[in-house]
Amino acid sequence: MESILINTTEETYPVIVGHEAIKKLPNLIRGISPSKILIVTDTNVDRLYGDCLIDLVGGEWTTYKHVIKSGEAAKSFEMFYEIHTFALQNELDRKSVVIAFGGGVVGDLTGFVAATYMRGIPFIQVPTTLLAHDSAVGGKVAINHPEGKNMIGAFYQPKAVVYDIQFLKSLPKSELRSGFAEVIKHSLIRSESLFQFLFKEVRQLEDITIDNLQRMIREGIQIKADVVSKDEKELGLRAILNFGHTLGHAIEAEAGYGKLSHGDSIAIGMLFAIWLSNKTLDINLPYHELKTWFKEIGFPTEVPNDQTTEQLINKMKKDKKTKSNQLTFILLKDIGVTTSAIFTGEELFALLDE
Ligand code: NAD
Ligand code: ZN
Repeated sequence: MESILINTTEETYPVIVGHEAIKKLPNLIRGISPSKILIVTDTNVDRLYGDCLIDLVGGEWTTYKHVIKSGEAAKSFEMFYEIHTFALQNELDRKSVVIAFGGGVVGDLTGFVAATYMRGIPFIQVPTTLLAHDSAVGGKVAINHPEGKNMIGAFYQPKAVVYDIQFLKSLPKSELRSGFAEVIKHSLIRSESLFQFLFKEVRQLEDITIDNLQRMIREGIQIKADVVSKDEKELGLRAILNFGHTLGHAIEAEAGYGKLSHGDSIAIGMLFAIWLSNKTLDINLPYHELKTWFKEIGFPTEVPNDQTTEQLINKMKKDKKTKSNQLTFILLKDIGVTTSAIFTGEELFALLDE
């Protein structure tokens, strides 16, 4: 099983992707030789696979498990504090290892705990969702604040990412679709060949083969890793990962978190960004074909009826990462080639009115 090496200024770490990749975990842990292990997982993943991980590491190391309630609400200060308390009460020290076993919620929360517990202890990501091909790589860890999503966090790299494809078999279709949106995003911004492969091979998410899943995860991670290694702290290039997210985030927030999945929201955002690219860059990307494909997969392709242009523009302006009335969109010059453009709210209104 080959691994992808991620290079950052602080760490070089392997991402191991494959069927039964989890079997590689004990050896990776031996390389760290921890005093203790803390596994953080959520209720769903624990019910399905909790024992599997304990069986793998519990015999060799003193292992604790902390199970959080599944769902975005767990990325909270309360939960962050609760895990710290659990770790302190069980006397985890600087040589202990934390394993994040779950999707992006578990990864972001656990990573932030690892980044802050005793000023930082090693952690390993064991992702179990398709979306986590995105969240487990790149070193961004965070919790939410009522004032905004992911507003409290750090850049903190794991020691390794162990991505076992077999865990994805139990993923609900809506979650698979949400993660697939990010795979499509990675292809659109950086790889025409991955895009052609997805467009040709994936028509129904139920029919994705393990081999195809493996390929899209590997290539998606490779793209993310490549972008991130060139811009770890999000000063420039990394902005291209925001393709589809300017509008997508606004739609997701306007709907109320949890109502419309992140992937469904950015699917609409990506279609809009492609429409905007055609409209303003004088090019002819296959907008209609993409829209038909998105529909076949089950993505919503229109902004929800109860959201007005005005509401969404206001939401985009309020995004903490934007500057006043300047809305930055990542656009495509071609499939796999990005550029960016800034519009004012008024300019967007005018374009949509034409
Ligand atoms: P999630 O972790 O909530 O998982 C989605 C659902 O699937 C949950 O109910 C979970 O219990 C369940 N689940 C997980 N694995 C399963 C499995 N194998 N079988 C059955 N059910 C399973 O959500 P997610 O979509 O993985 O991640 C979303 C989070 O990721 C968001 O909080 C987002 O902000 C974050 N994110 C972070 C980054 C980053 O760079 N750090 C990037 C993208 C997204
Ligand atoms: Zn995203």
